[in-house]
Amino acid sequence: LPEEFQAALPILETIEAAGYEAYFVGGSVRDTLLNKPIHDVDIATSAFPAEVKALFEKTVDTGIEHGTVMILDHGQGYETTTFRTESDYTDFRRPDEVTFVRSLKEDLKRRDFTVNALALKRTGEVIDLFDGISDLENHVLRAVGKAEERFHEDALRMMRAVRFAAQLDFKIEDNTQQSIQDNAALLANISIERTNVEFTKLMQGRAATYGMLELLKNRLNLYMPGLENADIDLIGMAELLKVAQPTDDTQAWGLLVFELGLTPEDAGSFLRKWKHSNELIKTIQTSIALLNVLRLGEASDWELYMTGSALPTAIVVANLSELQLDTDEIAARYDQLSIHARHELAVTGSDLMTNLDVKPGPILGKILNQLEHEVVENKVANLKPALLYRAVEMMEKEKK
Ligand code: ATP
Ligand code: MG
Repeated sequence: LPEEFQAALPILETIEAAGYEAYFVGGSVRDTLLNKPIHDVDIATSAFPAEVKALFEKTVDTGIEHGTVMILDHGQGYETTTFRTESDYTDFRRPDEVTFVRSLKEDLKRRDFTVNALALKRTGEVIDLFDGISDLENHVLRAVGKAEERFHEDALRMMRAVRFAAQLDFKIEDNTQQSIQDNAALLANISIERTNVEFTKLMQGRAATYGMLELLKNRLNLYMPGLENADIDLIGMAELLKVAQPTDDTQAWGLLVFELGLTPEDAGSFLRKWKHSNELIKTIQTSIALLNVLRLGEASDWELYMTGSALPTAIVVANLSELQLDTDEIAARYDQLSIHARHELAVTGSDLMTNLDVKPGPILGKILNQLEHEVVENKVANLKPALLYRAVEMMEKEKK
């Protein structure tokens, strides 16, 4: 067993010693069998939440209504979820009711894909009730049970299918794929946040091109904001992803926005529809503004300066896209700028107020802006006397 599982063994032992069952489940089991590194270790147990809590000193109710309790052990947290079944999905997303059960089989049955429905015993034995191992070996993604029903229960699973296909480089099994095609419209019932998580992972997958083409083939994009009519651009994006591997969310969405050819303003409303963070939106808008300039010619020092902390993203997106730019030269030019932020100016607003006859207000702001421009553009040295001298000249001009 990998060390992450080893470290969690005492937890399984404690639960079992109390007479319940406990297994490792989910992505960590799948990834271990694929010899991939694992991130979070998930545990499933026949013990009910209150029973789990009674067994451990420190627990946190992270999702108690779904049966999830986080057990804290050696500064590590382990999500432990009671075996459950889900019934009556009347709205194509969450079950009307979660029922805790004592049977592992019932729990595995409600999982999305056979390769995600494996359980690993403390002893290293794998419980494989749906031929997940054979699908793992054949690199096949297959819905557990009847695909049609599973996508009706939770339409997000269709997005998860294309996401896992991209991430694992697994082929979607024919019947599962057909079912996605038939039920794509159900995706409209899913919150944008959940769809976002899957799409973001898809774009960063090692087989992102395949995942994206499956998404398009099955017309899932018809239910994705701003991408309803973007078939051509998404094929372009799929092509790009053959050679380009974005390694974080901002790069992935930056590349997409660039491929869609959006202005910074349109990028903003597109990304807001997807409920992205303001920080991601700002970084992408700023990157796109620079790239749109560079697409047509050289960027000025001021434009580079304004890019600021978005420059690394802009450079990665440029390198991933087919834009042929000397990004080393751009980065070097940025490094050589005389200042990189307003606070590096050799004078402050209060310096100006002490030395010149100026009060807080629009004129002071205007002078500071102008000084910032001139320093960045190397029209004046970033030295206090030189800047005060220039400020006097600007003031006089203002008075006229
Ligand atoms: P990752 O490596 O991205 O975390 P994962 O397989 O662990 O992949 P999670 O979203 O963390 O994916 O979910 C953990 C497990 O819970 C899955 O392996 C699957 O068994 C089950 N699961 C998660 N979401 C769903 C869903 N929408 N429908 C059915 N089962 C699900
Ligand atoms: Mg996981």
